[in-house]
Amino acid sequence: MFSRILIANRGEIALRIIRACRELGIEAVVVHSEADRDAAYVQLADEAICIGPPSAAKSYLNIPAIISAAEVADVDAIHPGYGFLAENAHFADICNECGIAFIGPSPDSMRQLGDKVAARELAIKARVPVVPGSDGEIKNEADAIKLANKIGYPVIVKAAAGGGGRGMRVAHNDISLHKGFAAAKMEAEAAFKNGIVYLEKVIVEPRHVEVQLMADKSGNAVHFFERDCTIQRRHQKLIEESPCPVLDEKTREELCKSALRLIKEAKYHNAATCEFLLDKDNNFYFIEVNTRIQVEHPVTEMVTGQDLIKWQLKIASGHTLDLRQRDIRHRGVAMECRINAEDPARDFAPSPGRVDKFIVPGGFGVRVDTHLYQDAMVSPYYDSMVAKLVVHQPTREEAIATMQRALGEFKIEPIKTTIPICQKILSHNLFVKNEVDTGFIERHLG
Ligand code: ADP
Repeated sequence: MFSRILIANRGEIALRIIRACRELGIEAVVVHSEADRDAAYVQLADEAICIGPPSAAKSYLNIPAIISAAEVADVDAIHPGYGFLAENAHFADICNECGIAFIGPSPDSMRQLGDKVAARELAIKARVPVVPGSDGEIKNEADAIKLANKIGYPVIVKAAAGGGGRGMRVAHNDISLHKGFAAAKMEAEAAFKNGIVYLEKVIVEPRHVEVQLMADKSGNAVHFFERDCTIQRRHQKLIEESPCPVLDEKTREELCKSALRLIKEAKYHNAATCEFLLDKDNNFYFIEVNTRIQVEHPVTEMVTGQDLIKWQLKIASGHTLDLRQRDIRHRGVAMECRINAEDPARDFAPSPGRVDKFIVPGGFGVRVDTHLYQDAMVSPYYDSMVAKLVVHQPTREEAIATMQRALGEFKIEPIKTTIPICQKILSHNLFVKNEVDTGFIERHLG
């Protein structure tokens, strides 16, 4: 096992990784920007190194500064968390070249699965259902229009290198595809420095369902069942739960087995998530693989009782995944609300500032992952998520009641947060009855 690692991230995930390290007897070194000098994770780490000014480009994305810190601190490995450098294969290459283990998959796996066109090809090879669409890249508008007419509108033009809900354009007819294709290509080039795009049929009113996986370096792999992340705003997840409330046992098993086949085909190791869309008839279609730990991983931890960050650390240090699939049980219902420092009344504009009042919910079945504390500053420089409120109960009905109770207790003032919109969603009869799709927020709470 590693004796000392560096965490190349910030906020709640840095704290989450510190906690796993401490329980495994690993020393945790963190890097931070000048803006995060007083952050909770900086105060709780074994050692903290300032790597630059507030701008992420100059700190949390600054590879030379992070590698220098790792060298100075003499760590065995780097955990990238999620976001920032977590899916940057070049960064993983540099870690390996410096003899520092990257806590994640191999750079080759990251390249292959990070490219959505290549991931789609791999899924097809592994006999995983994909959304009807193009065989690889679509090079020009004429090809796009021909294919769209074959598979039927609406279609979605997607960037091979897209992520974070960006780089997607829906077209409803030849005219809008004509306009959208060139624009999508230009946007992809500008945002991701990669103009490759491909085409998918739009799955109408889908649910978003994803499978959590873990694999070791000797080819052992298991799944930890699924999470339902249908409640999204502009393709950004807001509420996640497990199990997916509309899946029957047979489909669940097929879904999880498909995801396993895919990561085995990729000869993958460490944590991965396979994302799928689920249509009204419970057909599932692969959309992408995320090659890192995800924000919503606690939902899976609560229902399976498995610490996914500890597994990441163990596997990266060469341990075998000594867990049999049948030993992983799913118990009860877990749900997560992402609490973002955003103002729902002002189109979700960021709401940074000092937290003068901070009361954290607790009690039976409640887990809060947050880096906030009384008098902490919510910085305007980074992602707006400030807390993850997770509940675990025997049934979905009880999970919703516990979540409502906990949301009511949560006080983060005077900044504005997504707490009120989460409360509205949880009390909406369509959410309670499981009659939602990815367009629910825009349609009903827009
Ligand atoms: P990103 O990598 O940017 O997160 P994804 O491919 O994972 O992009 O898609 C994000 C979200 O966009 C999905 O959860 C879903 O809501 C929507 N989406 C993506 N592809 C389709 C599709 N073919 N049909 C309908 N919705 C889609």
